[in-house]
Amino acid sequence: MRIHQLSPQLVNQIAAGEVIERPASVVKELLENSLDAGATRIEIEVEQGGVALIRIRDNGCGIHPDDLVLALSPHATSKIRSLDELERVASLGFRGEALASIASIAQLRLASRAHDADRGWEISFDANHRVSAPQPAALTTGTVVEVRELFYNTPARRKFLRTEKTEFSHIDTVTRRLAMSHCGVGITLRHNGRVVLQMQPATQIQDREQRVADLLNPEFLAHSVTIDHEGAGFHLWGWIGLPGFSRSQADMQYFFVNGRTVRDRLVTHAVRQAYHDVLYHGRHPAYLLYLEMNPAAVDVNVHPAKHEVRFRQSNLVHDFLFTTIHGALRGVRPADSTPSTTQSDVAGQRGSAPARSIVQQSMPLQLRDHAALYTALQATETAVTPPPNQEPGADGLPPLGLALAQLHGVYILAQNDSGLVMVDMHAAHERITYERLKEEWQTDSVITQPLLVPEQLRVSRSEADLAEESASLFCKVGLEVDRTGPEALVVRRVPALLNRSDAGSLVRDVLSDVAEHGRSTRVEETVNRLFATMACHGSVRANRRLSIEEMNALLRDMERTAMSGQCNHGRPTWTQLSLTELDRLFLRGR
Ligand code: ADP
Ligand code: MG
Repeated sequence: MRIHQLSPQLVNQIAAGEVIERPASVVKELLENSLDAGATRIEIEVEQGGVALIRIRDNGCGIHPDDLVLALSPHATSKIRSLDELERVASLGFRGEALASIASIAQLRLASRAHDADRGWEISFDANHRVSAPQPAALTTGTVVEVRELFYNTPARRKFLRTEKTEFSHIDTVTRRLAMSHCGVGITLRHNGRVVLQMQPATQIQDREQRVADLLNPEFLAHSVTIDHEGAGFHLWGWIGLPGFSRSQADMQYFFVNGRTVRDRLVTHAVRQAYHDVLYHGRHPAYLLYLEMNPAAVDVNVHPAKHEVRFRQSNLVHDFLFTTIHGALRGVRPADSTPSTTQSDVAGQRGSAPARSIVQQSMPLQLRDHAALYTALQATETAVTPPPNQEPGADGLPPLGLALAQLHGVYILAQNDSGLVMVDMHAAHERITYERLKEEWQTDSVITQPLLVPEQLRVSRSEADLAEESASLFCKVGLEVDRTGPEALVVRRVPALLNRSDAGSLVRDVLSDVAEHGRSTRVEETVNRLFATMACHGSVRANRRLSIEEMNALLRDMERTAMSGQCNHGRPTWTQLSLTELDRLFLRGR
């Protein structure tokens, strides 16, 4: 075979194969163009899932009449001129490929009126795929791009299209993402003549929140923490879901870098790490985050459809994301969080509005007695300074309230300003112990205590070897274990926090953790895992009777402890039934 030059039409069709996978890709490219043109209003009209028609109208800066034809030719762009400009590009587009690609696989009409022009002009293609001469068009400032019969001349691609409904749902997703990335832009989406999405430009924070609620899920904001943090040349802001609002799929994760939707492994990893020990196994966090940074520090030219980016200093970005998100999660206390999965998943019908006024009217005498007891307890506990966000409620009651009773040796019932609080005492204690162990480890070293009677342990030879090799790791987590024979160990010291637990089985579990995850992972991860195992041992077991004072002490500890809404495995530690919810259960006030 001899070599020959491909026709420009075929070259464009090949290029189109990379960027235009389905109708939603056309919508994405056209929306990006409108955003780059500074539009504040964009209307999208779609027919038959986008295959028959996609029409996008914007009020952006428009295209100079002399540039209309050029806009449709490949590698023609107004966005960059040099490699230098590519390296700090701030626009969404820059490849000059989209319009040319789309024009090669569909029937395209382009009409535009530049902001300084006195009229609009339009061009389109004839049956032989020749561009018509520009014709006058009645238009206010802005651009209309009309794409008909997508893939009409590439039957192979057309065959891969799914049902109209599926294709439209992809368009809907793309539009929602872009609407989320540019809250200041009003967007309307119509399918077969029906309005599917209508968003007003949102500039105030309330409007933004409304948009997030409309686009994502109305529940999300109520179960999330706001983030707004600047440092090291980055600005990260947005919302992260509370651990209890986790999802079974990674389907509510939005991350924008300088207004660009990004799917990036580094980002996913940093977020996962931040949620590491508050998320129940296999669950996924929900988040909507905006990262703003110097465009020169991001390489956007790594993917033809620009789905991915590469951070030039990936470690810095990872650290910044991890630290910010982790810090925000640690700051969550019972006072400001709505707890746990149970609220949204299990108790579907329950309302969640706290009924403070009702509580105040009907507060029983008994509660005042408890309040007095609590104050007395506080007075004797002088060593503990309450942290700033442990603010008492209107009645001087702490956020998790005062203990009333223990249920089946498993749950603590307590009363707070808004109603009834239920605490899983083992789960809660486990988190408290875990956080303390971590804190001791980070601030200084773990406080240890010798066992009155050192505990002898029979183990296998390889376990004994492992214990010997891991002496320094054991020492770091506050365990002193010596080998006394080929298959014998003795436990001499344990962390003071765990002094009442069964030292033998603790050491066995730690050994099996080390055997399984041992040396390959980084020290901190291993240590955290060991602490989790240890905390589980040291925590109050089910069926242990607690006095009211002990229960109250536990509640106060929870209020002071980071991430105390979940145990180390991500299970909720407490939940609440407000008086409104109780009233509803008993059909009161109807
Ligand atoms: P790119 O966006 O990578 O520059 P495109 O093929 O998408 O390439 O668009 C080519 C050029 O057409 C753009 O650089 C821009 O100047 C112009 N253009 C396209 N769409 C619009 C629009 N909606 N408003 C104003 N100019 C537009
Ligand atoms: Mg473009």
